[in-house]
Amino acid sequence: MEYPALGEVVDLTELPKLDEKVLLNELKARYAKDKIYTYIGDILVAVNPFRDLGIYGKDASDKYKMSKRASHPPHIYAVADATYQAMMGHSGNDPNNQCILISGESGAGKTESTKLIIRQLIELCKGNTQLEQQILQVNPLLEAFGNAMTLMNDNSSRFGKYIQLKFKHGNVMGAKISEYLLEKSRLVRQSRGEENFHIFYYMLAGLSQEQKQKYSLGPADSYRYLSNGAQCLKKHAERLSMAYEEVVNHMDLVGFNADEQEDLFVILSGVLNLGNVTFEMNDHEAAFVTDKTKVQAAASLLGVEAKDLEEVLTFTETFARGESIRRNYTTEQAEDSRDATAKAIYGRMFGWIVNKINQLLAPKEILGPEAMEIDILDIFGFEHFERNSFEQACINLANEQLHFFFNKHIFFMEQEEYKREGVDWTEIKFVDNQPLLDLFIAKPIGLIALLDEESQFPKATDSTFVQKLNKNLQGNKYFIKSPNAKSDLFTIAHYAGKVEYSASRWLEKNRDTIPAGVLELLQRSKNHLLQLVFKAAFTRTGTLALQNRSSKKRTTRLKKGTPDPVTSKRKLTVGTQFKNSLQVLMERMSVATPHFVRCIKPNNDKLPKAFDDAYVNAQLLYTGMLETTKIRREGYAYRPLFSDFIERYDILLRQPRKDDDKAACLQILQTAGLNGYHLGKTKVFMKLHHIESLAVKLEEI
Ligand code: ATP
Ligand code: MG
Repeated sequence: MEYPALGEVVDLTELPKLDEKVLLNELKARYAKDKIYTYIGDILVAVNPFRDLGIYGKDASDKYKMSKRASHPPHIYAVADATYQAMMGHSGNDPNNQCILISGESGAGKTESTKLIIRQLIELCKGNTQLEQQILQVNPLLEAFGNAMTLMNDNSSRFGKYIQLKFKHGNVMGAKISEYLLEKSRLVRQSRGEENFHIFYYMLAGLSQEQKQKYSLGPADSYRYLSNGAQCLKKHAERLSMAYEEVVNHMDLVGFNADEQEDLFVILSGVLNLGNVTFEMNDHEAAFVTDKTKVQAAASLLGVEAKDLEEVLTFTETFARGESIRRNYTTEQAEDSRDATAKAIYGRMFGWIVNKINQLLAPKEILGPEAMEIDILDIFGFEHFERNSFEQACINLANEQLHFFFNKHIFFMEQEEYKREGVDWTEIKFVDNQPLLDLFIAKPIGLIALLDEESQFPKATDSTFVQKLNKNLQGNKYFIKSPNAKSDLFTIAHYAGKVEYSASRWLEKNRDTIPAGVLELLQRSKNHLLQLVFKAAFTRTGTLALQNRSSKKRTTRLKKGTPDPVTSKRKLTVGTQFKNSLQVLMERMSVATPHFVRCIKPNNDKLPKAFDDAYVNAQLLYTGMLETTKIRREGYAYRPLFSDFIERYDILLRQPRKDDDKAACLQILQTAGLNGYHLGKTKVFMKLHHIESLAVKLEEI
């Protein structure tokens, strides 16, 4: 067999020899030639180029429209095309819902891939409708509010998203976005070298002087919440200011009206000002606001009375049998209350934006049974910083879940089917990460269940939580407790590597309670939008659902100190809510036909033209790239039922069809002159080249 030249193999399953080194060298050689895309059968591998390769223009888009995959080099547009064709039932299967799963660690290129896929899908169904234009604006808009600069990625998604594109007869009719767990803690605190959400820098660079005055905004470095990244504002003022214009533009195009936009920016300014409110303690150990003008500025932007705001930030008052009991906060408690309020506001604003987008992009008609979907999952990639907290644990759990889904599809279900159908098959082993999922989500002894249990004890602390973990997870080989018994650190051996977590603030983050009094106060805000989002209830999946009007009266009548009907129903913890929403997601994806894009990060320095062998090799290992290539080489990606196969291809027969289904399939395959397929008990097992040959034969008729 002739060896293909290094870097010229478009599909890794065609490599004559397979081992880890061969895979790495092939991807490396291709990368050096700017060939960032490579297939593994029907899976696309994408290595982040970290520079504009000029390969996404109109030419490319046209080239990959309705084309046979083998006729062009691998490309992300080909994935869009294959998905679209599969949805339409053009590729050997019945029309079906499709989903595209994009995985890879933080900075590997998932969000860029998502945008390119959506862009090409819109090209494929192009009707030049307003809706199509709106859909294209959604991603950049969400990025402004939900992405931030981190050490791993300058434009890191700080939330997960699942985009459902809804089609009828091949035309896009609407879209829906689900968001997962925005990293709200970033608003009030960022690690060294990281920034707050982009939108704040955009605003400060892009608002006019008058607007800034109106919103009581000063220079970036005057805000505690922006203490990181204020420098970058000076350096990139022009770029950031343009980005602000774009956000406003996107909002206009998607359909946010002027009042809503104004309210939104006033609220964001209010949040920044709120962050500047600081506290001191008086002789009675009661916190008070250091500088009244700060609280006045924040209150006026948030549409509430300064006195009321100051009160909810510095003490709680409970009513029992007609008597009020006042509990003063310490400075630390007051600071926590301030930050929790700011996070609640930002979180709800983000939820509102997503909700609004969903209202604007919802299908205008009932789609009925002909409706089809293409869903795209773009989550936050696997993270391992020097210091990792609750957010990283959730992010990494999501990645475990996604990896599990991949394994289940690519290895488990496929090999089960070969067994069931009696296909002659040598088993391919893979590393199952089920034990890691169990470590997180098992009941009653999983990390989330233990965290929930501890979150219910008012007296629990971060350190009692760690002790609980150490005690209960002892003996689990994926959980490694710290040798120092007093430490709040513990390590989890994820599929993608070991991560050391610090338990600091986990209980608080998991409970995510809005400080007493804040909810009622903000429900009375004069800012229409703020009032609206605080009258809304959170649904089980964490998305905002607006309450109906009848409940409005009830909530406004609430007196201070009365438990709010929304919060007093036992609120699900953040961890459990997240776990549940991942479950719902997996169920939804398992009824669609999945397509996989595996993003690889070539180096940890965000650099173009730098391929770090060890760094890439680690990713190939933990994603199971070698095993994937083996199963895709040996396996049969196309597996129609006999009856479906006959229905589609019996037109190729020139003589009468045999009665027995299996015999009829064989007859068709022989007539088409194919070999290397397999006939199971109920299905025909074929590879891509079989399907392509059959398509050619169909065309010849
Ligand atoms: P996270 O999990 O942190 O959200 P991600 O996988 O979504 O990470 P992206 O934001 O898509 O990562 O990519 C990171 C950066 O890499 C982009 O901002 C861009 O600079 C560069 N990049 C990614 N894909 C491409 C591409 N196809 N062409 C050029 N540059 C790219
Ligand atoms: Mg991203």
